[in-house]
Amino acid sequence: MTDKFDLIVIGAGPAGYVAAIHAAQLGLKTACIDKSIGKDGQAAPGGTCLNVGCIPSKALLDSSKHYDHLQHTYAEHGISADNVSMNVATMIGRKDKIVKQLTGGISQLFKANKVTFFHGTATLEKDHRVTVNQISGDAIELEGKNILLASGSVSIEIPGIAFDGEYIIDNIGALDIDSVPKRLGVIGAGVIGLELGSVWSRLGSEVTIFEALPEFLGVADKDIAKLAAREFRKQKLDIKLNTMVKSAGVKGQQVEVTIDTKDGEQQLSFDRLLVAVGRKAFTEGLLAEDCGVKLSDRGQIEVDDNCLTSSANVYAIGDAVRGPMLAHKASEEGVAVVNRIAGKHGHLDFNTIPWVIYTEPEIAWVGKTEQQLEADGIEYKSGSFPFAANGRALAGGAPAGMVKLLADATTDELLGAHIIGANASELIAECVVTMEFHGSSEDLALIVHAHPTLSEAVHEAALNIHKHAIHRVN
Ligand code: FAD
Ligand code: NAD
Repeated sequence: MTDKFDLIVIGAGPAGYVAAIHAAQLGLKTACIDKSIGKDGQAAPGGTCLNVGCIPSKALLDSSKHYDHLQHTYAEHGISADNVSMNVATMIGRKDKIVKQLTGGISQLFKANKVTFFHGTATLEKDHRVTVNQISGDAIELEGKNILLASGSVSIEIPGIAFDGEYIIDNIGALDIDSVPKRLGVIGAGVIGLELGSVWSRLGSEVTIFEALPEFLGVADKDIAKLAAREFRKQKLDIKLNTMVKSAGVKGQQVEVTIDTKDGEQQLSFDRLLVAVGRKAFTEGLLAEDCGVKLSDRGQIEVDDNCLTSSANVYAIGDAVRGPMLAHKASEEGVAVVNRIAGKHGHLDFNTIPWVIYTEPEIAWVGKTEQQLEADGIEYKSGSFPFAANGRALAGGAPAGMVKLLADATTDELLGAHIIGANASELIAECVVTMEFHGSSEDLALIVHAHPTLSEAVHEAALNIHKHAIHRVN
């Protein structure tokens, strides 16, 4: 017999699991299918984000930060420790425990919200039927009034530089290295390269990052990228711009890498090579030929502005479709689609989705960069404030970085906010709220900010737009 549902969600990453829970909360009979298997052999809903992405990377960033601070910054507080050491297995074990706690939490949330979970691989057939090859071995068939595809993404492999899971690795391998590599090579100075490169660099690896583009962190505001490059250089992350890796191969226990530079070819040797050159939509085995869902030239599931695919009542969200590959984008896209299915309003503004890079200092932004405003011919005013002039940042030993705000020259509406500094990931939320409400830099300047807090730097940057900052010369 075919089980029938109002909504069948394929994939239980941040896109799928949030959508499934929200749908069940709105009274839709909901099923969710996911194929992931955790380290303990059990179902591990949560997708890339919980298993091998956002959460494990932040766990390792946190552990490595403590180790780094104990060695380099605690002395100025009068704290000293002899024989500081890092037990990598304990650090990885802590990370695994956090992952298990969170994936187990999703299973509980499914039960509590009456989402029917199937552990297996799902394929969308025609007429809204879904076959599930369960991990247990049985195959079953489901039928849904609505289908939501949330199959996520996988790492892009460079042709000729195949992942082997041990020496040439992607994020999955880099989150599970069992000892600190003496030399770590990284291809791609993007978000993963910088975050995971920082983890192993703090633990003692000599990290070299190869970036194909001539410009560092071109997605960020130019002033923030410049400051970030300076901070990462101080941390001895060796970032080689304008550099293509021509080939890489494992010889013995080393990865031999050949790079193309303006001075010709160069050979380098690493203990591990992390390839982090972007991710691509994952749709393998997801779509039967006659299911009616089309893929784009880039292999993403094609959707319209409402996340509807080329097949009626079949939607797709998250990393598998266009737009930023971020967990919060994936989740909010799911909520918006479910709201529409339930006859409510569903909306997501890509322009107010915040970006965060969890390095030290953290980098966060929302809205337009200065270079985007220039390219679009939009007249703007700019205001900034350095954390070096913020009392809380100094007291906390985090004077690096700044807040930079961009507002419309005529209306003063906040168009972009760019932060590099401690807790930038949290500070950006205030700017997101301001932009969502179409607030102005004057609104931010008029809001009372607690003293002493890092958020006063946001306040002062807003005041600086009007040449009224108190703690800097405007
Ligand atoms: P996924 O999380 O990839 O989930 C898709 C799920 O669907 C997977 O479990 C997959 O196994 C399952 N699936 C696929 N096909 C089928 C099928 N046919 N049948 C059954 N199951 C199927 N984003 C942030 O916002 N903040 C961060 O700090 C952050 N850090 C990251 C760090 C790393 C190292 C990486 C790699 C990514 C990070 N991301 C971060 C990005 C974030 O992980 C993704 O944007 C997010 O996971 C996308 O969610 P999703 O649900 O669309 O896809
Ligand atoms: P990315 O797009 O952030 O960076 C990839 C970098 O690799 C780019 O700078 C690109 O120019 C470079 N590159 C591409 N091909 C190259 C080549 N052949 N040689 C050298 N450099 C090359 O991709 P990523 O770091 O792999 O991360 C993938 C996605 O995962 C991110 O875009 C982001 O959406 C998501 N993510 C988010 C977070 C976060 O929110 N904190 C963290 C990790 C990952």
